[in-house]
Amino acid sequence: MKALLGLTLNELYAVVESLGMQRFTARQIADWIYVKRVRSVADMTNISVSNRQKITDEGYEVGYEDPSDAAVSTDGTIRYLFATPAGKHIETVYIPDGDRATLCVSSQIGCKMGCYFCMTGKQGFNGQLTTTQIINQIFAIPESKSLTNIVFMGMGEPLDNWDNVSRALEIITSAWGMAWSPKRVTVSTIGQMQHLTDFLRDSRCNLAVSLHSPYSDERLSLMPVEKAWPTSTVLDLLRQQDWNGQRDLTFEYIIFRGLNDDSRHAHALIKLLSGLRCKVNLIRFHAIPDVELHTSDIHAMERFRDILNEHGLTATIRASRGEDIYAACGMLSSTKR
Ligand code: SF4
Repeated sequence: MKALLGLTLNELYAVVESLGMQRFTARQIADWIYVKRVRSVADMTNISVSNRQKITDEGYEVGYEDPSDAAVSTDGTIRYLFATPAGKHIETVYIPDGDRATLCVSSQIGCKMGCYFCMTGKQGFNGQLTTTQIINQIFAIPESKSLTNIVFMGMGEPLDNWDNVSRALEIITSAWGMAWSPKRVTVSTIGQMQHLTDFLRDSRCNLAVSLHSPYSDERLSLMPVEKAWPTSTVLDLLRQQDWNGQRDLTFEYIIFRGLNDDSRHAHALIKLLSGLRCKVNLIRFHAIPDVELHTSDIHAMERFRDILNEHGLTATIRASRGEDIYAACGMLSSTKR
């Protein structure tokens, strides 16, 4: 079967035209899928019975895939698994927090980028998620209608799957789709320069850049991407953008004990990001097997945060969520546990 969920309006136009239907039928289908959220073509009641029949006869269905498993953390975080045809798993993390409910979606099965501290990176790369598989993570969870924010911070480097991620962003933010404000959506990248320009041009969503060290050699030891696309190149591009109220720019900084948590690093970070309207998110490191790194304690994190704040660089410590169910940052894996 072919899924309609995950098709953009232009792709729906192509489908209905190929079936000999009027173009406006595509808008009706988009409305049924993305606004009314029906799960069956039969429920699209303002489309004629014969056209609905034609759509299903041609092998189309709405195409929901329900999660195959879910683990619930003591803090309310839920880690959902979606099975893939190749026997791997897509992980999606639902994070309720007061009146916010954030969904952390995956964009790839595994990842090519090989960051030393990341469980997903250790799995290697097992394929790109289709737009349908990305959008399905949002629609098929029971809490879907209560979501307030979506972050592309699950498995994979989103900009390394730009074709499908860009279509997903279009569906989330277009008036014919979910009609979300782009301010509710954040795309995370380690600085994938091949598509960062595309993202900045084509999307108004927020951007989070994983930095983790202000020093190039040290970052290279943590993140091989530093060799191909050094931080300096990424920052040069970001400095050409207007960040004043357009969208949020955040730098993610996992804080490792004895490695990047001292005042020397804090001051180097302040210097590196000077003049950029941005904030820094400090993230506790979540231990993973065979990685000789440890998180800083809360006092060191607060000291680091305070230095940044005192020098005008807004910094916050991100609350750790879902560690007991392996759902926290850097712990996602395409292998079922
Ligand atoms: Fe890939 Fe992100 Fe993990 Fe790096 S941190 S290996 S980019 S998923």
